[in-house]
Amino acid sequence: MKENLLSDSEAFKAIFEFATISILLVDEHGIIQITNPHTDKLFGYESGELKGNRIELLIPDKYKERHGNLMKGYFEIPQRRPMGVGLELTAQKKNGEIFPVEISLDHYNDGPKQMAIVFLSDITHRKRTEKVIHEEEKRLRDIIQSISDAFMGFTKDWRYGYLNDKALSILGRARDEVIGKTIWEVFPYDLGENFEREFQKRQRSDMTPFTIKTHHDLTWWRVRVARYDEGMALLCSDITEAKYAQEAQQRSETQFSVIFNSSPSAISITELDSCLVVDINRSHTQLFGFTKEELIGKTMVDVGIYKNMDTRNQIIGLIRKNGPVSNYEIAATTKRGNTIHLLISADIIRLAEKEYLLVSSTDISASKSAMEELQRSEERFAKAFQASPVALSISTMKDGKMIDVNYGFLELFGYQREEVIGRTAGELKMYEHAEERDKVISQLLKHGFIRNKEITCNTKTGTKIQVIFAMEMIELHGEKCLITTALDITDKYKAEEKLKSYADLLEQKVTERTLELTQALEREKEVGDMKSRFVSIASHEFRTPLSTILSSTYLLEQIKDNEEDRSKHYNRIRSAVKNLTFILTEFLSLDKLEQRKVNVESELFDLDTLASEVIDEIRIAYRLSVPIDYVHVGPRLIYQDKRIIRNLFLNLVSNAAKYSPPDKLIKLRTIVDKGKLTIHVIDEGIGIPLEDQKLIFNKFFRAHNSNHIQGTGLGLNISKRYVELLGGEIDFKSIPGAGTEFMIYLPIQKFELIKVKTT
Ligand code: ADP
Repeated sequence: MKENLLSDSEAFKAIFEFATISILLVDEHGIIQITNPHTDKLFGYESGELKGNRIELLIPDKYKERHGNLMKGYFEIPQRRPMGVGLELTAQKKNGEIFPVEISLDHYNDGPKQMAIVFLSDITHRKRTEKVIHEEEKRLRDIIQSISDAFMGFTKDWRYGYLNDKALSILGRARDEVIGKTIWEVFPYDLGENFEREFQKRQRSDMTPFTIKTHHDLTWWRVRVARYDEGMALLCSDITEAKYAQEAQQRSETQFSVIFNSSPSAISITELDSCLVVDINRSHTQLFGFTKEELIGKTMVDVGIYKNMDTRNQIIGLIRKNGPVSNYEIAATTKRGNTIHLLISADIIRLAEKEYLLVSSTDISASKSAMEELQRSEERFAKAFQASPVALSISTMKDGKMIDVNYGFLELFGYQREEVIGRTAGELKMYEHAEERDKVISQLLKHGFIRNKEITCNTKTGTKIQVIFAMEMIELHGEKCLITTALDITDKYKAEEKLKSYADLLEQKVTERTLELTQALEREKEVGDMKSRFVSIASHEFRTPLSTILSSTYLLEQIKDNEEDRSKHYNRIRSAVKNLTFILTEFLSLDKLEQRKVNVESELFDLDTLASEVIDEIRIAYRLSVPIDYVHVGPRLIYQDKRIIRNLFLNLVSNAAKYSPPDKLIKLRTIVDKGKLTIHVIDEGIGIPLEDQKLIFNKFFRAHNSNHIQGTGLGLNISKRYVELLGGEIDFKSIPGAGTEFMIYLPIQKFELIKVKTT
């Protein structure tokens, strides 16, 4: 029936036969009923071979199973529709090759039978093309992504369509935030407007890039525009750096021209090869006298500034070898014919692909002659330095090391040159007082110089010399130095010292003399004092014995026949005279002692005998009722001044007798032992009041409890002086009202030797 249908319609048949699309009729059981020739060819079957086969024959194995259900589903609600929307459909050829297909389905009823019409196209080619396009697109995106410029694709109404990462990073936005937004939304400031304005200016075909500057962040952009039907693409390059470099270059060029024209150095620019002058500055004209017009287009040799090109060639050679030349000294001639000395700096510069020689010259004629003068003055200084008889040294300020010394210095301090150079005065111990050095430095720092300072220095051998010292700061080869002068004044100093010692001696003599005179004066005064004391004592002490003498002589005249009475009076007279003699002796002794007229005259004598004689004398004189107890211990013969010892006995024992009641025992002890004589005189008398004890040896001093007893207050003073004269000591112990003990300790010289001789 179907065949009939087809045979009825010739046109349909033709379509069916010649269609370049596969057409299959499949019944509801999935059995292929008809295939067109294109199908057979496509799947690789003979004509009619497919008929009666199941449609699954043309389906790849992995979809076969699912297909039955799908087909069943289609026949339940049959309608025209594409098959497997969104799926990649494939079919399988007879040879097993699987290929992509696109299928659409339709259906019709053949009587009670449901029939599906399958239209199937091989899309292998299309798929391949699609893949190529896709890959091409990806490659393009990759390229756009990888370029360092920002790429932005816009729709016609300035909405962002595509941006590469660079563009996003410049915008600081995520892709989602930008895509679909207008340029003004993304750039709420000037950039959007700038783009648009520049864009509008251009013809559609104009692809020349334009440059814009953003005002918000001062960056410069170079923008290329490509227009197409759907919109436009912008390629933006950040040229900020280049732009600023260009500006800097412009500035430096401007600066160069300012410097060139205002430079105090004469600058010329000449062509390297032809040597022709291209430009000169104002200073050049002033220095050489030639105007720009007179020089440009000529060489320096043409106008006579330089004699030939030798120096120029030499300089060019140096620049080529070592780079820019500086401080090169040459002589040149000015327009007026004067020779001037120049210090030049030169370099080769490149301007518009051409090389030029740039020469900057400074006139050093004046400083050159100043330098020469300086050199001459330095020579003069060096000569003066060396020839000076005064010691001179130069040391560095920073560490005090000596860098030069003159002959005068070496001679004064006794060093060799090499012993001094590089060392400090401190190291050489030149200062006698090390602290002097610190003083000198601080003074120097305060005032900047030191003058007329007198200090003591040590020479190499350690001899001390006195110098007048001066220090001054100078600068030598850019270094701060000290120049020190030292003038030897030792001789003058010594003379002064001598003078001073003479003066001291004189002064000492005067003092001594004055002292002597004062002492003499005092002595004179003392003598005067003594005289008046003597007079007062004499008038008092002499009265009693003298009146005794007077009355006894008178009575002697009266008593002529009574011998006993007469003898009594003679005794009284004798005793009174003795008393007077005693007093006078004391005065004389004191006077002699004070005038140092007493000489020690030692002799050998029997101490025991001497003591016994004195005791007898005293007992009688003081009418003692008890004998004086005398004990001697040790050798009796001693070698001493007998007169003095006698005087000591007399003084001490008579005091003991005077200041004790007549019935009290007086003890005298003499001990001779080991070259020493000790005398003890002990009484049981009135004693010496405590308050008077310390004054007891003073001249004319008498204790308060002794006023009623005759005395002069001289005995103890004289005794002490005698004891000291013999090199001994005197001391006492006394208890008022109980008694007194005097002790005398005396050395006895050469006693043993003398003792041996006499025995
Ligand atoms: P003078 O006996 O002539 O007064 P001295 O120089 O001998 O002079 O003695 C000084 C004083 O010392 C005496 O006046 C007396 O007061 C005191 N003196 C000396 N010896 C004794 C003694 N043995 N006992 C008490 N007083 C004494």
